[in-house]
Amino acid sequence: MKMVLNEYRADLHLHTCLSPCADLTMVPSVFAQKLTEKNVDWIAITDHNTCRNVPVFSKVLRDHGIEVITGIEIQTREEVHVLLYFESYEEAFDFEITIVMPHLKKTKLNPELHGYQLLVNEKDEFTELYNNWLGQSLDLSTEELVEYAHKKGAMVVFAHIFRRFGVIHQLGIPPDTRCEAVEICSTSELERAKTMFKGSTVILSSDAHFPDQIGSRNCVIRANTRKFQEFRDAIEKGRILTEWDCAH
Ligand SMILES: [Zn+2]
Ligand SMILES: [Zn+2]
Repeated sequence: MKMVLNEYRADLHLHTCLSPCADLTMVPSVFAQKLTEKNVDWIAITDHNTCRNVPVFSKVLRDHGIEVITGIEIQTREEVHVLLYFESYEEAFDFEITIVMPHLKKTKLNPELHGYQLLVNEKDEFTELYNNWLGQSLDLSTEELVEYAHKKGAMVVFAHIFRRFGVIHQLGIPPDTRCEAVEICSTSELERAKTMFKGSTVILSSDAHFPDQIGSRNCVIRANTRKFQEFRDAIEKGRILTEWDCAH
């Protein structure tokens, strides 16, 4: 019998109120409302250099039928943004403690200058101001970071590759390292991305920092369930469709 896979609408790059550059209104109830409006039911939360808001968002969003992958958007020494996706929050948090924090300079947050970095609870109440500035680069090269990430079982996606802080924008050429996928921000970037990263899956996501951007760009993932292993398989086997595929 032919297996029929489900189709999940996914936005795999979203910032919460913990990212210094994201809006203070990027709280759980706003995510639930906007994602429901856009019919998005599988997301990754990818704050800059941390994953600490993920458990609260996961809990709230699960009640709305939305599944959350724990991600972190790392900024490397070359100011390249790299998305890491983890099987569990525990693995991501372990990566944050053992790899990210030791390689991130101690710089006290200045909210006037950097923006706020807020931990939030299930009622959208801010519980803590995270004190070390998360908008800095790690003192790890892109290659070093990718190696650490793969060793720890994370999936690696180069973020917004042609835009500011994207790997091609920063380095000019693809780095000498393997990635599971690359992310673009517009369909016009597709052909260039496929040429430069032969064999890599190309994804489209919102990189939302403001409520109206949530789910504004997304992909369709074909899978049986929303387990991480299915996500990994879908990326590896190209069972991920973007707007341009869906239009055909
Ligand atoms: Zn970025
Ligand atoms: Zn981002």
